[in-house]
This record gives sequence, C-alpha cells and structure tokens, in this order.
Amino acid sequence: MKGEAPPRPTAIARLPALPGLRVEWSDGHESVFTGRTLRLHCACARCVNEWSGENMLDEASIPGEVAAEAIELAGLYGIRIRWSDGHDTGIYTYDRLRALCPCDECTK
Ligand SMILES: [Zn+2]
Ligand SMILES: [Zn+2]
Repeated sequence: MKGEAPPRPTAIARLPALPGLRVEWSDGHESVFTGRTLRLHCACARCVNEWSGENMLDEASIPGEVAAEAIELAGLYGIRIRWSDGHDTGIYTYDRLRALCPCDECTK
C-alpha cells in the first residue's frame, strides 16, 4: 500500500523555562507547546466525559505554569505525560499531538 505514513515525533524535549514541550516530527515539522495548552487538552476519562465528550476540566484549577515532569512512551502511538499538578493519566496520541500544534502553519 502506498501513501505517506503519518508524521511521528523524532524528538521530544521538555522546555522547563516556558514551561512546555518541543516536538520534532519525522516530516521536518517542529511544534512548541506550552504545558498549559497540552494539559487543558487532556482527553483522559477524568478530564473528558466518556459518554458526552464534555470537557470536565476546570481551567481555573490548572496552574498557569503547569509543566511536564516526565514523558514516557505509551505503546507505539503516543506519549504519556506526568504533569507538575499531579495529573498523569493523560495519553496524547501522535495524531492528537500533531493536531494540537499551535504554529501558524497548522492553525491557518
Ligand atoms: Zn486528564
Ligand atoms: Zn505546526
């Protein structure tokens, strides 16, 4: 089967000063996320109602400077981030991570 493989991260670095994350992709793209952006888009069962899809996250409860303390691979398709606010159940698939890229090109 032909077709382009979806981009995958080739490098993920924590940016403690932002705080945030930088992701380099297999297609040469680069994404810089603030921790808060990713944290607010957590799609785990504690943050999003599984039945209604409703976001149950209280934005006010998320620290402005929430940082990724640890990043680990979650299977072949995503990463799990442990956040400085103690939340660690969120898995970000590569597809989703790429879809959240806040750069000009991706948000056009
Ligand atoms: Zn969550
Ligand atoms: Zn982008």
